[in-house]
Amino acid sequence: MKGMAQGSHKNLVILGSTGSVGTQALDVVRRMPDAFRVVALSGHSRWDVLARQVEEFRPEAAAVSDEEGADRLAKALDGRGVTLLRGTEGLCRLASWDGADVVLSAISGAAGLRPAVAALESGKTLALANKEAVVMCGPRLVRLAAETGAVILPVDSEHSAIFQLLRMVDRRQVQRVTLTASGGPFYGMSTEELGRVTPAEALRHPTWRMGRKITVDSATLMNKALEIVEARWLFGLAPEQIGVLIHPQSVIHCLVELVDGSVFAHMGAPDMRLPIQYALSYPERLPAAAVRLDLARMSKLELCEPDRQAFPALSLGYRVAAAGGTSGAVLSAANEEAVRAFLDGRIRFTDIARLVEMVLDRHKLEAEPTFEAAMAADLWAREEANECLALL
Ligand code: NAD
Ligand code: MG
Repeated sequence: MKGMAQGSHKNLVILGSTGSVGTQALDVVRRMPDAFRVVALSGHSRWDVLARQVEEFRPEAAAVSDEEGADRLAKALDGRGVTLLRGTEGLCRLASWDGADVVLSAISGAAGLRPAVAALESGKTLALANKEAVVMCGPRLVRLAAETGAVILPVDSEHSAIFQLLRMVDRRQVQRVTLTASGGPFYGMSTEELGRVTPAEALRHPTWRMGRKITVDSATLMNKALEIVEARWLFGLAPEQIGVLIHPQSVIHCLVELVDGSVFAHMGAPDMRLPIQYALSYPERLPAAAVRLDLARMSKLELCEPDRQAFPALSLGYRVAAAGGTSGAVLSAANEEAVRAFLDGRIRFTDIARLVEMVLDRHKLEAEPTFEAAMAADLWAREEANECLALL
């Protein structure tokens, strides 16, 4: 079979290896040298981190999407025998690398869409952390995978949990799937208090250590909005079948309720290495590299309804999950721009969801976009978001 590993290990391509998910994936590999071999790595601007990773993991190829970084990496690795690629083209070549068994996409934002498409077109198993690609163009990605025989394995912890639970039950008996959200650092605050929070406060997440963008998304609950859309397309769930509960301990990752009222929970330590490892080893399970859950030492596990008024991003997630089409690309891109503006001190925390809503209101939906149309909607939404900044 094309792409099968020689011997017992799997050959991995890790896109976005310099980020939070990427470095945790390399940690899984480091602890399981017999199970995995890295054949390609990619980074964006942190070429020096990538250079060190190349020294340690000795891949066949590496790519840097940032032009300046590519030149500097080429100098640093001169004579090492590693194929060096650049730009989006380079990422797509790595995503379809001959001999790769699993492509992990840990790229953040819309830049992950084209490499995801390339991996699926070449029939690879795609371990997908890059939720923005699914939000932008979920139905097309799922259809493409079905056409080529490729497999999409979710890495997002909640979606990995849903994926695992749905494998154990009869799909026709599923009533509802509930995503949990830590609530972020501002759980319990009023809209007024939220208007005063600073970027530094938003970047301090209570339970997860993640990249900057997703950390802010967790604070606005926009991350959960994106995850509602992600769950809608990855698992073919109707928007009304998807629930959200705040769960500050981040130990229960999802709940699946069946028609008879039985509820199954997926639990695990809040450590991304667990869902990463599962996606890399699937369908096998390997002895855990991640921290293990010690329920006896937990004093409480809380679950409660989110405050949809103080965190309006959630409703935007449901709106986009129902509307489909290009609205996902618009949600994701407008949010990326809004988060950037907030981190630069140009808008308030509460303006993030307001700005995204303004852009969604102005958008003319295209119902079944191609990948190109989704990328065009993404560009439109970025320009529109920057114009709307002045209206806030
Ligand atoms: P990060 O910012 O720490 O890392 C992002 C990676 O993508 C880096 O390697 C960077 O070099 C690369 N990258 C950034 N911009 C790029 C571009 N324009 N072109 C090519 N590569 C680019 O982000 P992260 O927290 O690791 O998140 C990665 C993805 O995983 C996101 O989609 C996020 O939503 C998702 N995710 C992350 C976590 C987490 O715990 N960090 C959990 C669930 C899902
Ligand atoms: Mg998640």
